[in-house]
Amino acid sequence: MLVRTTQFPSKHVVEVMMSASKASPPSKKVQAANVAARTFASLDRRNGLSEYLRDPAKHPSVLGYSDDFVVIKDLYPKATVHLLILPRDPDKQNLHPSKAFQDAAFLGKLKDEASKWRALAGKELARSLCPPITSIPDRNWDDEIKVGIHSVPSMHHLHVHVISRDMHSPSLKHKKHYNSFNTPFFVGLEEFPLTEEEATARKKDWHKGDMICWRCKRNFENKFPALKQHLETEFNEWKAELIKPVDR
Ligand code: AMP
Repeated sequence: MLVRTTQFPSKHVVEVMMSASKASPPSKKVQAANVAARTFASLDRRNGLSEYLRDPAKHPSVLGYSDDFVVIKDLYPKATVHLLILPRDPDKQNLHPSKAFQDAAFLGKLKDEASKWRALAGKELARSLCPPITSIPDRNWDDEIKVGIHSVPSMHHLHVHVISRDMHSPSLKHKKHYNSFNTPFFVGLEEFPLTEEEATARKKDWHKGDMICWRCKRNFENKFPALKQHLETEFNEWKAELIKPVDR
């Protein structure tokens, strides 16, 4: 896995060669899938993730890639740190997550990859929250990172969210954005494989429910502006708690 950057999202320094394999040119199968992906991409924005799969080395939003995965910054991040893991397997790319994750070997590989990115996202969160001149407290920063999928994804290409818990972002604009990460509609990768009944249940009526604060559990019902204001307060308190030195 080739990983770019210490300060993602913006610096494009290729810095860390992780233990996984070095990226090699895509196989014929992958190339064929990429041609097909290009055609579809022009059709609508739901195919927007295909552009990263096509030629990850050239794309400025790509944080890392291997033969199996491409990892990008979410273009409309819904929290302080928000990445997407895109599997490159052409046989999996266009499947619903529940279907793709029935392949135990694939799911295992994806979980391994996700745990690496969860740790990197935790480090990035620490760097984002801690003032530059102070030292970063030695805590489990990755506890603040969630990894999972939306039961009904809006984008066509298979992807897994790696996202910090805060929901503090200008791109968080309405109830669906919030509830899609804070109700059972968001399925943690560790919960897979799901039964068919469970997967179906997780798709239902999620957006109709009340908005509950992820931190204090206060119910904001349908009042998005009030929640948005509250998230600002929660963010500041959460940050203050995380950046204070750890007592050992
Ligand atoms: P979902 O399909 O609901 O699981 O989420 C799709 C995610 O893709 C959202 O978090 C979007 O912000 C993100 N997104 C949409 N278009 C793009 C794009 N062109 N590049 C990167 N991320 C995108």
